Amino acid sequence: MTAETESPNMKDTNKPGVPHGMPVFGASGRRIIYDEDGKPCRSCNTLLDFKMVTHVQKDARPSGSTTNSALSSTTASAMAIPMKKVAETTQYARDEPPDVEQLGKASWSLLHTLAARYPTEPNAEQQSDMGQFINLFAKLYPCWFCAKDFKKYIEENKPVLESQEKFGRWLCNAHNAVNVKIGKPKFDCNLWKQRWKDGWDNVDDSVKK
Ligand SMILES: Cc1cc2nc3c(=O)[nH]c(=O)nc-3n(C[C@H](O)[C@H](O)[C@H](O)COP(=O)(O)OP(=O)(O)OC[C@H]3O[C@@H](n4cnc5c(N)ncnc54)[C@H](O)[C@@H]3O)c2cc1C
Repeated sequence: MTAETESPNMKDTNKPGVPHGMPVFGASGRRIIYDEDGKPCRSCNTLLDFKMVTHVQKDARPSGSTTNSALSSTTASAMAIPMKKVAETTQYARDEPPDVEQLGKASWSLLHTLAARYPTEPNAEQQSDMGQFINLFAKLYPCWFCAKDFKKYIEENKPVLESQEKFGRWLCNAHNAVNVKIGKPKFDCNLWKQRWKDGWDNVDDSVKK
């Protein structure tokens, strides 16, 4: 059975940005993102896809001789291997570095929480600080692929920093732009404060869903 019949996503192609013999799509259905040096980007892919694609890379034969059947068997084994729990030698679990989803969720938590803590009437210095933070955040965000689009978004939609409410809504819209891009539902920005500042205790149940 060829890789194509097993999984069309694993097809060996010559797509730009995809090293020869490497998959275009991962098991999650997302496109695999590679760094400039051809290695899969750790912070831009899901952990599942990253593990899948690094197995493919490790098993790939030199001089581009990887065959479709090699791809399909390595992929199958990568996906079949349950994530082994490494014996804990300290009091901390040996958590893995974050993938694109963990990094994203943690980052949005930080950003929305910053908005929730932003002064209701910020002075000039506070506005300037937050503006610089957002610019630097976009510049330094570890998933370069995400950062590129986020930088473009903030160039076209300057952060609105005059008040907490305005900044919170600006951020909610920025997050929704990413949601749309990756096929997630839009969040109702009328509810950003319940989600990130006040909680849902005093909100009507019909709104909570
Ligand atoms: C700047 C940035 C750019 C990103 N770009 C990409 C990308 O290009 N490709 C990619 O695959 N991933 C990207 N991500 C990650 C992606 O946005 C998600 O964080 C990730 O997919 C995990 O999604 P999630 O379902 O856990 O919820 P998240 O989208 O992380 O949201 C966390 C929580 O925030 C709340 N929420 C959702 N939407 C909003 C909103 N609009 N306003 C307020 N609260 C909201 C919900 O309660 C949700 O559970 C990016 C993340 C960041 C911070």
